[in-house]
Amino acid sequence: MDNKEVLKYCPRCSAHAVLADSRKIVCAGCGFQIYLNTAAAVAALLFDGDSRLMAVRRNHEPRSGMLDLPGGFVDFGETAEEALSRELREELGITVCGIEYYRSIPNKYQYGGVLYHTLDIFLKCRFDDGVDNNIRPNDEISEVVYKRPGDISEDEIAFDSMKKLIKSLKIN
Ligand SMILES: [Zn+2]
Repeated sequence: MDNKEVLKYCPRCSAHAVLADSRKIVCAGCGFQIYLNTAAAVAALLFDGDSRLMAVRRNHEPRSGMLDLPGGFVDFGETAEEALSRELREELGITVCGIEYYRSIPNKYQYGGVLYHTLDIFLKCRFDDGVDNNIRPNDEISEVVYKRPGDISEDEIAFDSMKKLIKSLKIN
């Protein structure tokens, strides 16, 4: 579905005929403008000692049942590193260290009928050996799996950005 068909009322005056280009919604009635900016998201590249990548099976829509990397949206005022630490703590109950930028890939994310554009920031990290790191997944995750990138099939990956990432890991 096109965002124009979903976002068709002004959030300020409720007038019809809100005109939208790809990022900007402009109300024809009151002139109010609102932007759908690219959202920053983070995802963890966490390898075990056997060169296997940690992946999680999604338990919620969108793409429930498919493989994803642990992570999520960056909150207001957070750095990418802080967002990754928080998401891993919330989703898996783990503490990581040695967080390093790896690469970023744009992505699209359909939720509640709205198409969001994200910039997925992939960060390498490792388990912090100084703390209890038993994995305790929350209800967003049905399963934690470890796989070598070469053993992950594109069909089981939830999002295009992770497909591109896995492809690049297979080459390198
Ligand atoms: Zn308006």
